[in-house]
Amino acid sequence: MGWKLDIAEAQESYLSESDLWRLTQQFLMHSTHTTTYKHILMKALLESTAETDETGKITFLEISKHVSKIYWNLVITHGLRQVNVKNGQSSVEKILIDFQETHCIPSNWNFEKLSTAHQNELIKLINIVYKKYVYGSFYSSFDGTIYSFNKKEEWIKLVPSYLVFFEKYKRILMNITNYQLSIFLEKYNSSHLMKNILSKVEFVSARHSLAEFKNILLLHGQTTCFYCHKTLQKVHVDHFIPWSYTQNDVLWNFVLSCPTCNTSKNNKIAQKDFLYSLIDRNEQLNAVIHMRNYTENKLKYTYEYAIQNGFKIWTPNRTY
Ligand SMILES: [Zn+2]
Repeated sequence: MGWKLDIAEAQESYLSESDLWRLTQQFLMHSTHTTTYKHILMKALLESTAETDETGKITFLEISKHVSKIYWNLVITHGLRQVNVKNGQSSVEKILIDFQETHCIPSNWNFEKLSTAHQNELIKLINIVYKKYVYGSFYSSFDGTIYSFNKKEEWIKLVPSYLVFFEKYKRILMNITNYQLSIFLEKYNSSHLMKNILSKVEFVSARHSLAEFKNILLLHGQTTCFYCHKTLQKVHVDHFIPWSYTQNDVLWNFVLSCPTCNTSKNNKIAQKDFLYSLIDRNEQLNAVIHMRNYTENKLKYTYEYAIQNGFKIWTPNRTY
């Protein structure tokens, strides 16, 4: 029983791309459907690739941040129940509902609206459940090939071939994971809650406000549009590599732009000279604000993988 393991090393074996597809599809098709725990962990891992260190390591608490946000927004904000066969409520769902009631939090509040103290408390509570039941069981679902983990030190270390696989096929893997989650939710929720379910699941982690990133970048001297260099009147915050690829909000991927560039760029990726401008910008920014686990190399390969995932290249019209 994988969930009982406290420490495990990833099985050392050469994994071809066919092996990675087989193991991932095996997980998606056959992992037990008594709760959404493992599918939410898959979604959280796909969101977390930008945050791993150079060895592929990421802490339980960093993952729990993603898991907690996804669950809060699904269970509380969208009212979507996650049933456990035994008692009709999973431990995570119970934690969320009790927490909301104890602190009298309106149900239309999404996770980012909670105070930092409340967010951290939930992240820790959900981490206890994930640590006990999920990391070991998820490891077993991939025949022990996906990561090493250590429950005492609270981290997982993704195997490099999986990290590359996740980046290379992120959109497809995210779409399948979202689809499987939606199918699961369909079993336990009434039809009015299921309205627009695929959009609800797809955008469950998207932020409503990027103001904190805007303020940091303004404070550190970005006064012109990153793309057309016009002085900024109205400021838009742009995910340099589109959010629909990264599914994450990390400072090193944000730039400020004018509304025209931002609207025109939309879900595309800027031509390569802007990648080099962003590398320079991040080098300056990293000297004053430490951007955890940022490396130039990570930005470069994320850019290349986004293109492989089908994102089109955009060139600004500099003559507005
Ligand atoms: Zn512009």
